[in-house]
Amino acid sequence: MKIHEYQAKLVLAQVGVPTPKGEMAESPEDVARIAGELGGRVVVKAQVHVGGRGKAGGIKLSSTPEEAREVSGQILGMDLKGLTVKKVLVEQAIAIDLEYYLGMIFDRDARRVVLMVSKEGGMEIEEVAERDPKAIAKAWIDPAIGLADYQVRDLIFDAGLSRAHVKEITFFIKKLYEAFMTSDATLAEINPLVITKDGQVIAADCKMDIDDNALFRQKALAAWQESEADSAIEDEARERGLTYVHLDGDIGIIGNGAGLVMTTLDAVGREGGKAANFLDIGGGAKAAVVKNALEVVMMEQPKGVLINIFGGITRCDEVAKGVLEACGQLDIQVPIVVRLSGTAEAEGRALLEGTSLIPAATMQEAASKVVELAYATR
Ligand code: GDP
Ligand code: MN
Repeated sequence: MKIHEYQAKLVLAQVGVPTPKGEMAESPEDVARIAGELGGRVVVKAQVHVGGRGKAGGIKLSSTPEEAREVSGQILGMDLKGLTVKKVLVEQAIAIDLEYYLGMIFDRDARRVVLMVSKEGGMEIEEVAERDPKAIAKAWIDPAIGLADYQVRDLIFDAGLSRAHVKEITFFIKKLYEAFMTSDATLAEINPLVITKDGQVIAADCKMDIDDNALFRQKALAAWQESEADSAIEDEARERGLTYVHLDGDIGIIGNGAGLVMTTLDAVGREGGKAANFLDIGGGAKAAVVKNALEVVMMEQPKGVLINIFGGITRCDEVAKGVLEACGQLDIQVPIVVRLSGTAEAEGRALLEGTSLIPAATMQEAASKVVELAYATR
């Protein structure tokens, strides 16, 4: 789960990390009021769940409350990489001397959290990582020991950060790691970590992603969950207990088992189609679950649907019943290709005979059929 910058900064504040004074606002009037209270120059920052807001025009400086009202009028409601801006963060502007990068994520190969530090922070960090990977110093953290002091010192020296601020930067690295661990984060970044013209160290931006599987014990963070346009269907699927991911294509996919569903996505891709979603009905699904699944997939308004079932614990006849029930209740106008293989396969296929559902013997055949039919009908 992604959280906004203003929320991540609240998490930082909880562990004692300094961030610029500021407040979140949802209207230009509130922005003007907050800017007035803060006094002096402020920065108005779009709060959306994407990076690179600066480059996309989502971050603007202003000198007066009136100007802040004006720029927030441009930012609120703007489309930022496909997302509509509904909130902004209004903060005291800072006089930037240096911009550093601090970040941490899981390194699954190393099975450790990896810490990354660079003196070339700011908006070009992705380019820096590509052009000059050595400019980013890294340290892997042993989960049994935690972040050791020597690692922090090594990171600061390896990255070539200002010697004058070793103490403060050490504090930020340790605190960011503390926030990462206590929030069950999967990513935490301060970019830029700013050294101001008067020698202060401050977190000008912060990004955090929280592990969805930890939300049950992160109640305060879970309360920040927002539904976005794209994830409305995902929310619906979650409520129905389905494992679901929205994708951008036009072929609805239902399968049992994450591996099979991913393979099905690939098969559809190889035939030149694009999947609208990932949906795993899991093992042993009954007719009701299948019906639920098809209902959710139809919300994507796909051009065709592929149901790919490998019957083990899941019975193919249960799946067929569910599909037929759903079809009886929904007015489905697009081709539905069904591949059933394994337990109760013959019974399942018999149920589908004489209906508008299109049988396929193999996954390859199913993928090729659904792509051909889906793109032919519209
Ligand atoms: P991002 O583009 O989404 O990562 O948003 P950031 O908050 O990192 O802002 C992008 C850039 O805007 C930073 O790298 C800074 O150079 C600049 N910036 C952000 N906040 C301030 C501020 O308070 N004062 C000034 N002068 N520049 C800022
Ligand atoms: Mn940033």
